[in-house]
Amino acid sequence: METTEKVLILKTGKFKENDLWVRFLSASRGVQTAFAFGGSRSRKRFGGCLEPFSMVLFKIESNKTGAYQVLKEGSLMKSYPGIRTDIRKMGLAANCLKFIESAGTEKESSRRVYDLLSATLDAIEESEPDDFFPLFFRAKVAFEQGYNPDFTICSLCGKPLFSSRPVVFDVEKGGIICSDCDSGRRGNTVSSGTIRTLAWIQDTGPANWMSLNIPYEIRQECFAVMDRFMAYHMGLVWEGSSYRKI
Ligand SMILES: [Zn+2]
Repeated sequence: METTEKVLILKTGKFKENDLWVRFLSASRGVQTAFAFGGSRSRKRFGGCLEPFSMVLFKIESNKTGAYQVLKEGSLMKSYPGIRTDIRKMGLAANCLKFIESAGTEKESSRRVYDLLSATLDAIEESEPDDFFPLFFRAKVAFEQGYNPDFTICSLCGKPLFSSRPVVFDVEKGGIICSDCDSGRRGNTVSSGTIRTLAWIQDTGPANWMSLNIPYEIRQECFAVMDRFMAYHMGLVWEGSSYRKI
């Protein structure tokens, strides 16, 4: 069966002299791997399509038993020259691609995650995000995959979290607890600035995150608490230079 799909390339590698495997995020099916036979030679079928930081329309065929997929041809819809020529931007974008590759996607959320990654690459291409940008991206992926705490009300008493007092992020239950309900034994106290930042990420997209002017301590706190949250719910931990599924 042959299908046509819009994808973002995550990673490619050689497995024979002229043959490549390609891992990509499909808007309709999430993270997939397929073979491009003759891929490193055929400019006619794959010109410029088989590198990370590319948006491509692929013709994809399953083999007879459905055990693997073969890329028949591709047309490049968009490359990201600003990312490819700037080592810092490339590092930020690669971090986001790696995260998607490790996290995978649920079928229901693949369209939303695809749109998010596409908007993220546009934002990195067109502006100068700081080093915390991939963290905001990772948090947003978690939210899009349904790990989506309500940062506006206390998960125990239901009162709005308007106060500027610190609150408790119950990582395991994925809820926020106000200072009135906190018995003082739950730990994971976070500032109201962190909760407001995470609520903002939840409600907006990558194009808006450039204008965020967040104090360093709050960024650090967002980073620490979201990493714990993602390790617990998505089973992902950051190790040196990549994510590992635990
Ligand atoms: Zn409460």
